[in-house]
Amino acid sequence: MSIMNRIGHWIDGRHVAGTSGRTASVYDPARGVVSGEVDLATIEEVNHAVATAQAAFPAWRATPLARRAEIMFTLREMLNARRLEIAEAVSAEHGKVVSDAMGEVARGLENVEFACGIPQLLKGGFSEQVASGVDVWSIRQPLGVVAGITPFNFPAMVPMWMLANALACGNTFVLKPSEKDPSVSLLLAEIIAAAGVPAGVFNVIQGDAVAVNAILEHRDIAAVSFVGSTPVAKYIYETGTRHNKRVQALGGAKNHMLVLADADLDMAADAAISAGYGSAGERCMAISVVLAAEAIADDLVARIAERIPSITIGIGSDPAAQMGPLITSEHRARVASYVAGAAEDGAEVVVDGRASHGLPTEGFFLGASLIDKVRPGMACYDDEIFGPVLSVVRVAGYAEGVEMINANPYGNGTALFTRDGGAARQFGFDVEVGMVGINVPIPVPVSYYSFGGWKASLFGDTHMYGPEGINFYTRGKVVTSRWPDPAQSVIDLGFPQNR
Ligand code: NAD
Repeated sequence: MSIMNRIGHWIDGRHVAGTSGRTASVYDPARGVVSGEVDLATIEEVNHAVATAQAAFPAWRATPLARRAEIMFTLREMLNARRLEIAEAVSAEHGKVVSDAMGEVARGLENVEFACGIPQLLKGGFSEQVASGVDVWSIRQPLGVVAGITPFNFPAMVPMWMLANALACGNTFVLKPSEKDPSVSLLLAEIIAAAGVPAGVFNVIQGDAVAVNAILEHRDIAAVSFVGSTPVAKYIYETGTRHNKRVQALGGAKNHMLVLADADLDMAADAAISAGYGSAGERCMAISVVLAAEAIADDLVARIAERIPSITIGIGSDPAAQMGPLITSEHRARVASYVAGAAEDGAEVVVDGRASHGLPTEGFFLGASLIDKVRPGMACYDDEIFGPVLSVVRVAGYAEGVEMINANPYGNGTALFTRDGGAARQFGFDVEVGMVGINVPIPVPVSYYSFGGWKASLFGDTHMYGPEGINFYTRGKVVTSRWPDPAQSVIDLGFPQNR
């Protein structure tokens, strides 16, 4: 087979071909064909990238804040100018439609915009005269070499969640993107270099578990940010912390949308369609379960079902398409198996996406499915499906709905649909989930807040990006200082008191 597109690493400011001889196939999911081969790094290649980042660190951390901010502004302008190109690169290997990928790029770009304010964000504190002639100030300093390990479903946005703040804080970075859609990372690397980030400060290493383990065990990596499935997130957190690293590991999700009897049902149905089937359900903030108050459940299910045929499924570059294919044929088969299993478990398959008509014949397409009368204990409820499958669980009302959300092992996102302000306020108080929407189905926080779930959706105590991201990528230092004043200098062996 002739290799049409070999996807390698980015180290020390340039493309570097892999040497391991191990590769993985990258697909065009909309056509179902191999579009490239990505190199899978050896431990030595990871070590080389880390050594490069380590060598670049002293000069980068000493680069004046004004210059780092200027580079962030330039990066923002360059990414903004190339939005469409990045979105098309996302679509080519992920399969999501270009309009959806444009949204991903915009939400990633927000984080670069936030990082443009780095001089303000890194301001410390100062206390004058804490004792006679003594002042104290606090500062936050970069960690050194930090690594990011990212999932397939947001190949542009999730790396930008990490790299913008990490670089602005003065760290150097090694990114290990998903091997399923690795090319976007190289496009980002080219743009980052063109924006003026010096060689070695930002590096990309392609790979699988071999590269990930080399990162987790590497002595010179100070921190690891991870986004991916829960079992891998748990492993990353446990292994990284065992190797003395600071780790934030964001995992999978099962996001519930509770619809109370007083909700605007058309608004709720539109939201369920958008949040359930957008990006073919391959979003960690996708709604996968609708908890419908019994009084309106029949009506709500009917409204969702009647909207499904209007979803236009097609290849990413088709401007009319709203939903693309799944990432691989194996994943499509797995998602479809949950629809089959739901019927066997006694749930009611209201719309069967396996039987959708008019789907493109090539590629990993699957229509949208709607399953009613789902209960906990059924696989379609218990597992993260990560596909265009929406389950409806009927609940008596608010109390049963919240109880079910809180009993779920995941706690990434949730939403309440209601007209009752009191119920909405109480929901924010009661619910054990990290990101909450009130009549907003996908409550991904803006970049000046921070993103993160609870329970099995996040390992570690720091959420990603925003203020918590700045905290994660820096460590605090407090300086207590006295300048010599010969007139007042005395010997005092007592413990210093603030007098
Ligand atoms: P994944 O866990 O399979 O892969 C994520 C990363 O981990 C990739 O870079 C991959 O190469 C690496 N990896 C995979 N298996 C590994 C192993 N055994 N050892 C070491 N490294 C390994 O996840 P995915 O399929 O790429 O992404 C989808 C998942 O990510 C879903 O579960 C989704 O909910 C989750 N996700 C979560 C968030 C969030 O913010 N919480 C955001 C996006 C995606």
